[in-house]
Amino acid sequence: MSATDSPVQSNFIRHIIATDLAAHKNNGKVATRFPPEPNGYLHIGHAKSICLNFTLAAENQGTCNLRFDDTNPEKESIEYMEAIERDVAWLGFKWAGKYHASDYFEQLYTYAVQLIEQGDAYVDSSTPEQMRLDRGSLTQPGKESADRNRSIADNLDLFTRMRAGEFADGQYVLRAKIDMASPNINMRDPTIYRIRRVHHQRTGDAWCVYPMYDYTHCISDALEGITHSICTLEFEDHRPLYDWVLDKLGTACHPQQIEFARLQLEYTIVSKRKLLQLVSEGHVSGWNDPRMPTISGLRRAGFTPEAIRDFCERIGVTKKDSWIEMAVLENCIREDLNERAPRAMAVLQPLKVVITNWEAGKTESYQIANHPQKPELGSREVVFSAEIFIEQDDFAENPPKDFKRLIPGGEVRLRGSYVIKCEDVIKDEQGNIIELQCSYDPNTLGKNPEGRKVKGVIHWVSVSHSIAAEVRLYDRLFSHPQPDTLDNFLDGLNPNSLQILSNSRVEASLAAAGSDTTYQFERTGYFCLDDQDSTPEKPVFNRTVTLRDSWGK
Ligand code: ATP
Ligand code: MG
Repeated sequence: MSATDSPVQSNFIRHIIATDLAAHKNNGKVATRFPPEPNGYLHIGHAKSICLNFTLAAENQGTCNLRFDDTNPEKESIEYMEAIERDVAWLGFKWAGKYHASDYFEQLYTYAVQLIEQGDAYVDSSTPEQMRLDRGSLTQPGKESADRNRSIADNLDLFTRMRAGEFADGQYVLRAKIDMASPNINMRDPTIYRIRRVHHQRTGDAWCVYPMYDYTHCISDALEGITHSICTLEFEDHRPLYDWVLDKLGTACHPQQIEFARLQLEYTIVSKRKLLQLVSEGHVSGWNDPRMPTISGLRRAGFTPEAIRDFCERIGVTKKDSWIEMAVLENCIREDLNERAPRAMAVLQPLKVVITNWEAGKTESYQIANHPQKPELGSREVVFSAEIFIEQDDFAENPPKDFKRLIPGGEVRLRGSYVIKCEDVIKDEQGNIIELQCSYDPNTLGKNPEGRKVKGVIHWVSVSHSIAAEVRLYDRLFSHPQPDTLDNFLDGLNPNSLQILSNSRVEASLAAAGSDTTYQFERTGYFCLDDQDSTPEKPVFNRTVTLRDSWGK
C-alpha cells in the first residue's frame, strides 16, 4: 500500500498549490518540509502535519524534507531525534533530505551580521524583565530601548564578542529593528539571538549564541528551497515577521507560509509539554505507553500506519479550530483491522470446563480460517481436548433475560467445534465456581444437533494446547473529553485506563505472534503482542481497541 492511497478530499491548501502550479509559480515545483523540534516524541497531531506535508509533495511530484528545529538545546536530545525518524518512516513516508536548523548556524550568523550592517538589527542590553515591560500590550504600543540607536559599528563589535563568549548568558540579545509601535507584538523588535552556554547535541560547545525560532525557521525554509511552508494557526501572527526577515535578507527563495488548524482530539492531550509531564511524573509507563497519543504509543497498542493516515485524511484540513471525536480515530483502526487482522481465540478470564464424556488424553484438531472473508490469510490448527477454558462471563448460574451462552443444564456451541451441555457446577468452600462439568454431543461437529437450535457460540482454548498470557485492557487515558480545558489537565485522567489480566490463556498458535501483527481475539477485541514486556514464558498482549464503540455505555 502506498502512502497516498486514502480517498483524496480537497482542501484549501491543495487548492493553493494547484493554483500556484497552474500559474507556473516556483518553476512548477512543490517543496514542503516537516519541522519538528526534537524535544519529545511525535503525537497524533504531528501525524496530521506529517501526512499533509508529505502527501502534498507526493501528489505533485514534489519533495518533502525532514528538518529538526534544534535551536533549543536544553530541551532536546538525540533520543528524541531518533524516535522522530523512526516514527515518520513507520508512517510510510520518505524524506527527500534530512536537515537540522543547526546545520545552518554559520549561515544564520552571517545573515544576522548582514541585518546589523543594514541597520536592521541591534544589540540590546535590556534585561528580560525590562524587555517584557517595554513590549507594551495589545492596547499599548511598546517603548524603544535606549540601545536601539547604537551605531552599526558598535553593534557589529558587540555581536562578534557575544559569539566569542565575552559576555554572560542573558547580558545581551540581538534584536530585529522593526517597529515598537506595531499593532502586531511579534513585530516589536523581536529577539533573534540570545547568549546561552548550553551544550548542543550536534554542535557541542561550538556556539554560545543561539538563534530564535522565528528567525531560524524562515531562513531554514529559504535555504532548502521550500515553496509552501505549512504550519499551524498559532503562527499566523508570526507570518509578517517570517516575511520581514526574508525580505530584508533578499533571499533567492521566499516560501509562502500557509497556516491550518491543529488537530485537537477529545479524551487526550496533544501537547509535548504535557505528554512529557505524564511520562516524568509516572502517570504512564513511558512515551510509548499504549494509552499515549504518541505515534510510538499507538504503534505499541497495535495501530497500523494505514489507519493513522486514513484518520489524517478523513479529518481534513481547515483554518478553523475544532475538536475531533476519539471515536473517529478508533473507527479508523477498527475498519482497517477488521479487514486485515488474523483471528485467534484467547480466553481473557478463564473458567475451566471438563468434558466428562471425552476420553482423557484424546485430542482432535481443526483447521480454522484466520479470516472469515480472506482465504489468503490462511488457516491454523486448533486442538480440542477433555479440558478446556471458556470465559467466566460466558457462564451464568443465574442468567439475565436473553442470556444466550452457557447456563446450568443449558447448551452452547464451542466455536469451530462441538455443542456442549453444562451438567454440573463445581464450587470451592467459599462458593466460588471453580470448574464446570459438561458433556459434548458427538453429532454436532460443524452442524446443529437434530431438532434443536443452539444459539450461543463461544470461544475457548484447550487447557494443554494454550499458553499463559498477560492481557492489558487499555481504555482512554482521560475520562474528561477536553482535559486541556481543565485548570489541571491531570484531573481529567481516567483512573481505569488500564486493567491487567494476568491469568489469560491464548491459543497455542499465538506462540509465534510478532508485534507487527494485530489480531482479532474473537469476541473480545483487537490485540497486539507487546514486544517490550513479553517474555518467552509469558507473552503480553495489548488491547488496541474494542470490537465496537462501547465508550460511556
Ligand atoms: P507541541 O505543542 O506538542 O509541543 P509543537 O508545535 O511545538 O507541538 P513541533 O515539534 O514544533 O511541536 O511541531 C512540528 C510540526 O508539527 C509543526 O509544523 C507543528 O505546527 C505541527 N504540529 C504540532 N502539533 C500539531 C497538531 N496538534 N496538529 C497539527 N499539526 C501539529
Ligand atoms: Mg514548536
